[in-house]
Amino acid sequence: MKDGWEGVIGLEIHAELNTATKLFSGDVNRFGDEPNINISEVSVGLPGTLPVVNKEAVRKAIRFGLAVKGQVQLWSRFDRKSYFYPDCPRNYQITQFDFPVVKGGIVTALVDGEEKQFSINRIQLEDDAGMLKHFTSFAGVDFNRAGVPLIEIVSEPCMHSAKDAVAYAMTIRSILDYIDASDCNMEEGSIRFDVNVSVRKQGEAGLRNRIEIKNLNSFNYLQQAIEHEIDRQIGMYEAAPEKPADQVIGQATYRWDTTKAETVLMRTKENAEDYRYFPDPDLLPLVLSEKDVEREMEYLPELPLEKERRYVRDFGLSAQHSYFLTSEKKLADYFEEAVRIYPQPKPIANWILVEFGGRLKEKGLSIWQSGVTPQNLAELVKMIQEGVVTSRTAKSVADEMLLTPEVSPRTIVEDNPAYRPFADTEKLQEIVVQVVRENEASVKEVLGGRDRAFTFLVGQVMKKTQGSAQPDLVNRLLREAIAQYPK
Ligand code: ADP
Ligand code: MG
Repeated sequence: MKDGWEGVIGLEIHAELNTATKLFSGDVNRFGDEPNINISEVSVGLPGTLPVVNKEAVRKAIRFGLAVKGQVQLWSRFDRKSYFYPDCPRNYQITQFDFPVVKGGIVTALVDGEEKQFSINRIQLEDDAGMLKHFTSFAGVDFNRAGVPLIEIVSEPCMHSAKDAVAYAMTIRSILDYIDASDCNMEEGSIRFDVNVSVRKQGEAGLRNRIEIKNLNSFNYLQQAIEHEIDRQIGMYEAAPEKPADQVIGQATYRWDTTKAETVLMRTKENAEDYRYFPDPDLLPLVLSEKDVEREMEYLPELPLEKERRYVRDFGLSAQHSYFLTSEKKLADYFEEAVRIYPQPKPIANWILVEFGGRLKEKGLSIWQSGVTPQNLAELVKMIQEGVVTSRTAKSVADEMLLTPEVSPRTIVEDNPAYRPFADTEKLQEIVVQVVRENEASVKEVLGGRDRAFTFLVGQVMKKTQGSAQPDLVNRLLREAIAQYPK
C-alpha cells in the first residue's frame, strides 16, 4: 500500500448451509440438479404459501455463533427485504435486520505467520435467491437455489489489507467446514463475499465513504478486488487534494470485472435500492431457550485455531505448516491418521504439504482426494527414515503413488530394482575414494573441523550415484576414508 495511507475493509460473507431442506420449506437443498426440480409452491413464492423455519438451519447458525464466541440471541426475528428481480419470486427476501440471531464474535486468523483478531458485528439467517441463466436469445430462472438457507456473517470494518481480508475469510471457511455447517464449495458458490473498502490517511480518525464490491466467489478475486480498489481510491484522493473527501468518493456499489481485472460501477448512493425492511408477518419471532444454545455447544469439535496451536505445541510444527494442515477438516484428519500410524509428524507434514502438495497443486486437489491413503503416505515416510529408499528416490515413488494409488510404496520399490538404494559397499567405497581424491581441498577443510565441507563431499558421492546411495552408508565410508587421509 502507498505510504501514509491505510485501507479499511469490512466483509459480508454469505454461506449456504448444508441442511437437507430449505430454510422455510421441505424442498430439497441440493446443488447441481436439473433446473426447477427442487421446488414446491413455497420456493416459487405462490400466494397463500406460508414459511416454516427449518430447525436444522437455526442450529447450524447457533453453532457457528458459538464457534466464533458471539452472543447467541434468545430472541430474534425475520424481516422482509423488498427487491424486484426475476431471481426473487416473492419480490422480497426473508432475512434478519435489527434483531439478528447472533451479535458480535471474534475470529483469530494467521496473517504472515502471526495471529490477528478480527471482529464480527452480527450473523443473520436468510434465504438465497434463485439463479438466472442466460441463453443466446432468452434467459431462464432456476429456482432450485431459491430458499436455500444462508448465514450472512458481517464483520466490523476492522481489516486493513487484502491479506487480512483473505486470511479472515479463509478462517471463516475453515470454521464452517469443521462444524459441518456448509459444503464450503467455492466453485458451486457455497460461499460468496461482498466487500466494503475505504481508505484513509494513517492516523486519521473516523472512516471515509466506502465502496461495496458485490458477489465475489473466490479468494483470488477477493484479494485482487481489494488491492485494485485501495489503489484506485488512493489515486482519486491524491489527484484532488484540495477537495473534501466526501466529494471525491461517494458511497457506491461496484462489481469486479474478472476479465478487465477492475472494479466497475453498478450504482451510486442516490440510486440505492430502498429495501423497505419490516418484520415478516408470516413468521413468529425466533425464540430460543438457554438449553437450545447449550445443546449446540456439545456439537462443537476442536476448532481450527485450537488444532493449529496443538500441532505447534505437541508436534513441533511451524505455525505455517500447522495452519495449512488445519485449514480443512479432512486434511487435518488425514494428517493425524498418518501420524497415528507412524509417529513422525514433521516429515509427514512435509511430505503432505511440500511433496504431495506441490504435485497436486495444479489439479487443485488435496491429498485426501488423491487416492493416496494415510497408510501409504506413512509407509513412504517410514521407508525414507529407515533408509529403505533415499529421499531422492522417494520423489519418484511419490509420482507413481499418485498414478497408482492402490499400490503400496513398498510394492512399488520392490517391483523396481532402480528404486532400491545403492548399498553395494565395495562399489560405493570406490566412488568414495575417487571423490576424496578429486576434492582434496574439501577433505582438508573437514580435517580442519569444517562440517560444511563434509556435506559437500556427501553431495559429490550422491551425484555420482544419481542420488541412489544409502545416506548412512555414504556417511560412514566417507568418515573412514577421510580418517585415513593422506595415505
Ligand atoms: P449496511 O447496513 O449498508 O449493509 P453496515 O453498517 O451493515 O452497512 O456495513 C456493511 C459492511 O461494511 C460491514 O462489513 C462494515 O464493516 C463495512 N463498513 C462500514 N463502513 C465502512 C467503511 N467506511 N469502510 C470500509 N468498510 C465499512
Ligand atoms: Mg449489509
